[in-house]
Amino acid sequence: MTMDRIKAKKIFSYITWPFLLAACISATVFGFQSTHPILAFNLVYLCLITSLFFLERFMPHEMKWRESDGQLFADLAHTLLSKGVVQALVAFAGIFGLTKLITPLTDDGYGIWPRDWPLWIQVIMGMVAAEFGLYWAHRLSHEFHPLWRFHAVHHSVTKLWIVNTGRFHFINSLVSILLGTGVLIALGAPLEVVLWLSAITAYIGVLTHCNVEMNFIWPLSYIFNTPELHRWHHSKRLREGNKNYSENIMIWDHVFRSFFIDTPRRPPVNIGITQQMPDSFWAQLVWPFKDLSLRFKVYDKKPVNPPSA
Ligand SMILES: [Zn+2]
Ligand SMILES: [Zn+2]
Repeated sequence: MTMDRIKAKKIFSYITWPFLLAACISATVFGFQSTHPILAFNLVYLCLITSLFFLERFMPHEMKWRESDGQLFADLAHTLLSKGVVQALVAFAGIFGLTKLITPLTDDGYGIWPRDWPLWIQVIMGMVAAEFGLYWAHRLSHEFHPLWRFHAVHHSVTKLWIVNTGRFHFINSLVSILLGTGVLIALGAPLEVVLWLSAITAYIGVLTHCNVEMNFIWPLSYIFNTPELHRWHHSKRLREGNKNYSENIMIWDHVFRSFFIDTPRRPPVNIGITQQMPDSFWAQLVWPFKDLSLRFKVYDKKPVNPPSA
């Protein structure tokens, strides 16, 4: 590879993440003003996935992660089931009139939410508030054994790529959505803020899992959940893996002292869990229920697992 190509690749690796996120958010601003906001969001999301699909081929972060892990069906099946269960929950809440609690910005609403403030400020406030619920849903999923059993389905992957972004046991997804949106609903956040938060979570989520070589200009990784932070979160070493619980913005990891970054060290290639997760989707659905003993895990500060290569 020529010097110029190496330089161009390096520059590209710095601009890819901020460019893709900014492009998605800009397109969403227009999309949400259209007559078909949900369709517009889905189109933007599809464009992002397509871009990352090609980037994973041309600019992979780990060559080893391009090999098949035999989990394609399980990854997609967990993604579809989790999304289906969440949609069923929304429909179920609708039957009981609970969805009426999330009213449009123009309605009076309830709670302490400042609906007359500019929407972009409300969206930032919504991100901070919902992140509190998401942070604790995720942290408890690592520290409270029964919740870990469900979350382990996500952490059992041996590679990161866009396809396993949504690989969550549906119980794990329910816990996150109940705590994340629960905070927003309790505060009386309007529908627009909830929609914006869903969109941003979808964009940042697929970006954190992609196998694309990306570098980050300070302070991006200190503010946002970036792929480099999430790769540490998938480490087998508990002192690295039990960190970076935030989903979108890292605020609560800084507050509760669980933020972890170790540049210039590269995050581990050999990721996963020490427990044995079955290969089949159906067995993975049942696996968590086999040991739901109520105990908290007290983690050592020093590495417990053997170092990963
Ligand atoms: Zn986790
Ligand atoms: Zn993950």
